[in-house]
Amino acid sequence: MHRPGADPGDMQPADFLCDFCHTPWDGAFPMIEGHRGSLICGRCLSVAYTELVLLEPEQAEQELSCTMCLEKKTGPFWVSPSHESAQICLRCTKQSAGKLHSDPDWDWHKPTLGPANPRLQS
Ligand SMILES: [Zn+2]
Ligand SMILES: [Zn+2]
Repeated sequence: MHRPGADPGDMQPADFLCDFCHTPWDGAFPMIEGHRGSLICGRCLSVAYTELVLLEPEQAEQELSCTMCLEKKTGPFWVSPSHESAQICLRCTKQSAGKLHSDPDWDWHKPTLGPANPRLQS
């Protein structure tokens, strides 16, 4: 998402916020862009990927609209724990993870169920 009040003609890195945790971008961590300026950071993507792809949670089948592709569909979704209106579908999670995984600019890899997994630390 773009920071409310940001000047569209003069966007700074900090004007780009992750839709899922609202962390402003500092240019030093990976961000993946969806439709209409929606964004997910690498850390949120790791959590989404872990929950949707690795853990395959049992989830009530509910129709939600994906923040990243704007499509309305029936689950599974990862819903941001801190911003419930931010939801990412399984397809976007896989696609974004694939893109970021093969992006040479970022040291980001698809998470595994190991001790380095941010979702499993806490
Ligand atoms: Zn985030
Ligand atoms: Zn989607």
